[in-house]
Amino acid sequence: MEKSFITDLKKYLISPKKIVILPHRNADGDALGSTLAWYHFLSQKGHEAVVISPNEYPSFLKWLPGENKILKYTQNPSEVQEKIRHADMIFTLDFNALDRIQELTDIVSKAPGHKIMIDHHEAPEDYAVLRYSDTSMSSTCEMIYNVIKALDETAINKEIASCLYTGIMTDTGSFRYSATTSETHQAISHLIQAGADGTEIHQKIYDSASFNRLKLLGITLSNLQQFPDLPIVFMTLNQEELISCDYQKGDTEGFVNYGLSLEGIVFSCILIENKNEGKIKMSFRSKGTFSVNDFARTYFNGGGHHNAAGGMSMDSMEDTVARFKNAVKEVADQFQ
Ligand code: 5GP
Ligand code: MN
Repeated sequence: MEKSFITDLKKYLISPKKIVILPHRNADGDALGSTLAWYHFLSQKGHEAVVISPNEYPSFLKWLPGENKILKYTQNPSEVQEKIRHADMIFTLDFNALDRIQELTDIVSKAPGHKIMIDHHEAPEDYAVLRYSDTSMSSTCEMIYNVIKALDETAINKEIASCLYTGIMTDTGSFRYSATTSETHQAISHLIQAGADGTEIHQKIYDSASFNRLKLLGITLSNLQQFPDLPIVFMTLNQEELISCDYQKGDTEGFVNYGLSLEGIVFSCILIENKNEGKIKMSFRSKGTFSVNDFARTYFNGGGHHNAAGGMSMDSMEDTVARFKNAVKEVADQFQ
């Protein structure tokens, strides 16, 4: 983190401000953990802060301290618009492109408040007056940890620690992906000292599955397909299959990773149909040198990180699978 970021941030926060904090659409553990931790910190310091989520998020995140205070645009559109229009500052956490907040893109880009980005995705846009953008960081939560530590580390209480622990844990696959460093573990050590209960948090996030979610995983795995002669697999889930297991938001989280648990496989994809929104949501994961960020950007209007990215298609499942297979052919030489 550049020193000037903290110096400049301090200037903005010197007097009490009206502050909006935004996670990306379909928030995950890192997006909600970082926005809520930052909300707790700013509230402690006397600012009028609010977390605004573009839409609903999975129920396994609904125990996070402060989650019940989050405003959802889909539930409270007029209140949310007012808050954004009147904010002195707007923090965008865990995303760096305004189209990641979809419903709110227009409102936020027109809002007069100073925009500040804290994020670890590739290719940041240029909308922020101040930004801390670092693609080598494990998670936005680790970045918020660094920011709070630089501002006032005594502020890290059990609530903040639990939020930050959650996002670092979910974005690192429980501390095993390559962006996990000794600094990540030092941050975790401090968060545990400050009151985060790792065992309890793991259970709340990973051991809260419904019977139907596990049935859906069974269907997904039975749909697994491998490319002949390539270390690549993909899975599909169509609307009928989702309905048959009473699909709830968040149920498919982590399914794509099962592809990478196969020996020798270095690229896994899942395609999930959403007939209401008329699109196929795609998730990509890789190991090693193959960049799913480039792949998602080039072929499926998406992006993310080197080894974890997402994208979408407006075509039917059949056509999207065909397009995916063609795209794989085009990049096949990278796997030789
Ligand atoms: P997931 O596959 O879990 O939805 O997302 C994997 C990573 O890619 C996350 O860091 C997420 O923020 C990012 N991501 C997912 N979908 C998109 C997308 O449509 N556009 C961009 N730019 N990033 C995405
Ligand atoms: Mn993240």
